[in-house]
Amino acid sequence: MKPLVADLVDGAAILRQADPADYDRGRALVDMGAVLIESVTPARVSATVEDGQRQRVELRATQRGLEWWCSCPPGRGGAFCLHVVATAFATWRRGSASP
Ligand SMILES: [Zn+2]
Repeated sequence: MKPLVADLVDGAAILRQADPADYDRGRALVDMGAVLIESVTPARVSATVEDGQRQRVELRATQRGLEWWCSCPPGRGGAFCLHVVATAFATWRRGSASP
């Protein structure tokens, strides 16, 4: 069975990946409505997060688990940044990532 993004972004998974400060800030961003989910397939979510600057975020489900990318400097370096947290939360709340 192929991994699904929606199955990989439950709250516990987000907590394990994120720095606590980024976790709190990312959750605040999603509560403010700063996350715009742009496209969703079962294995890939792309979104824009408005955080003063507009950041682009991608989440992908792979056989190794969740992979992510964000256009901010820490995100480009591979960090599970606040924008990735916000996108993961938005995806999680959205529920099943069906097209
Ligand atoms: Zn970021």
